[in-house]
Amino acid sequence: MADRFQVFVGKEDFRFNAAHFSVYSGFRERLHGHNYRVSVLLEGEIGPDGYVVDFGDIKKATRLLCARLNERFIVPTLNDRIEVSCADGQMELLCLDDGGRYSMPEADCAMLPIAHSSAEELALWFCDRLAEELALPADRTLLSLEVTVAEAPGQEARCCRQLAGKARA
Ligand code: ZN
Repeated sequence: MADRFQVFVGKEDFRFNAAHFSVYSGFRERLHGHNYRVSVLLEGEIGPDGYVVDFGDIKKATRLLCARLNERFIVPTLNDRIEVSCADGQMELLCLDDGGRYSMPEADCAMLPIAHSSAEELALWFCDRLAEELALPADRTLLSLEVTVAEAPGQEARCCRQLAGKARA
């Protein structure tokens, strides 16, 4: 069996500041914010250029994703306890249980197709996007991708995904 290598990238600027609240049936947090940190761990076989994946590719993709969330209100569009609509550049959010309403410019929001804006589901969102956006040369075999999202120091969630890898010809 070929050796497996791990590449870890957790740069100082893999961060975003965002507002959110958790909402479940009968419970809603008040709107609050976190200074989130992100890191990425990839495992795979080493390529002919000596890389598993170019660090630069991981840095570019992760920074772009952080920028999409930075200084925004994270709206989990698949949550069944809120109703969200956007019109004329304005986002309207209704909390079904207590009738609370938020209205703010759509540009101030990050509308994410997740059910809860927990660190776990944010890690899942990063994992989905990174799996798509990391352009992988055909000669690479990637085995797993892990994304960690910390919402405070020492308080983090991780999404670990096995990748199919690519069979060598
Ligand atoms: Zn929170």
